[in-house]
Amino acid sequence: MIPVDEALAIVLSHTPTLPTEEVLLTDAVGRVLAEDAAADQDMPPFDRSAMDGYAVRAADLSHAPVTLEVAAQVRAGQYPSEPLRPGQAVQVMTGAPVPEGATAVQPVEKTRALEGGRRVEFLERVETGAHISRQGTEVRAGDVVLERGQTIDPPAVAVLAAVGKGRVRVGRRPTVSVLVTGDELVDVWDSPGRGRIRNSNGYAVQAQAAWAGATVRSLGVVPDENDRIAQAVREGFASDVLVISGGVSEGVFDLVEQVLARFDVGLLFTKVAIKPGAPLVFGRRGDKLVFGLPGNPVSAQVTFDVFVRPALLRMQGARVVTRPTVQVELLEPAVNRSGRRYYLPARVRFEDGRLVARPVTTQGSADVVAHARANALVILDAPRRRAEAGERAPALLLGNFLERDGAD
Ligand code: AMP
Ligand code: MG
Repeated sequence: MIPVDEALAIVLSHTPTLPTEEVLLTDAVGRVLAEDAAADQDMPPFDRSAMDGYAVRAADLSHAPVTLEVAAQVRAGQYPSEPLRPGQAVQVMTGAPVPEGATAVQPVEKTRALEGGRRVEFLERVETGAHISRQGTEVRAGDVVLERGQTIDPPAVAVLAAVGKGRVRVGRRPTVSVLVTGDELVDVWDSPGRGRIRNSNGYAVQAQAAWAGATVRSLGVVPDENDRIAQAVREGFASDVLVISGGVSEGVFDLVEQVLARFDVGLLFTKVAIKPGAPLVFGRRGDKLVFGLPGNPVSAQVTFDVFVRPALLRMQGARVVTRPTVQVELLEPAVNRSGRRYYLPARVRFEDGRLVARPVTTQGSADVVAHARANALVILDAPRRRAEAGERAPALLLGNFLERDGAD
């Protein structure tokens, strides 16, 4: 049994970064940027008015109220033909370039148009620089605005659009085959007979892989029979990653390791000091990766999150591959007699400016309903057998953290 950090280091050291590809900006959200993106011009590209109002020389308003001649009007998209002369104002719209010589924009609310707009009265003074966004103050042409390895989110899409990148180079999506083993399993459409249960892992793992950016294919559910598993495993090697659910524990019908041996898969570990989990197979065959996840539904989801998700992100070239970790204060005691690192499903929320965590009430590793209520995993390291209420512990924030408030 190896520690979690060591196991993750092994996984990442065997994870290839996939080739990159170019996609349309409209298809780029959620992908990992494979190039530094640089500004193709200054931003703003010209001295720009941030308000509807009048471009002036601030000094001309020092004795406000004062009335000035309106020399011109500049709309967004136009460009002023003349510089601003002392004693003049130029009417400008938000986003319009201000004429050369202007040192401030006075918002229209602080003015009164006279003589049908030929003159304007300024009711107040204005500070030099007010409401003018100067050329290049956001970024300079050539500045790197987004770095390779970051996941493209909607704000990044805005940046890419602003710098003229209608096509973007991103990491290729890994392909993932999901194989579910277990004699007891029936599909989601079926009503389980006596002694049987529905396959939930297959669907959960496919969903997790999709959320990690993979293209997912299901190899279905196979019974715990060597040849049936082998046949599906062979198909699975067509993908970059094969994820197998179940059949990796010590039971008589846990056959996955045997089958992988038939395919000359180099097993890099078969047990990790993690709870929920422990039996967890990781192997490699050429540049294909194989994960054998425990069948227990919560174990499968947690081990996917801790080991498979980072691999899928790294394949796409992501710089950050693990979940954000925060320090939380436990609202209830937690016990870890396992001798393994415990990832305890919990609800985390803010209370009086601090993050607090309450473990979800669960019946154990099969309780997917309880697990779905968690928005974080509190980490209790192996030597820590008991943590009291009020103690602090690290917690991984799950993908749903921002959508799911942690209220009890
Ligand atoms: P295994 O790792 O195959 O020994 O399975 C451990 C436990 O998880 C058993 O109680 C199984 O019934 C359950 N289990 C295995 N695979 C699935 C699955 N795909 N969906 C839901 N439960 C499963
Ligand atoms: Mg099984």
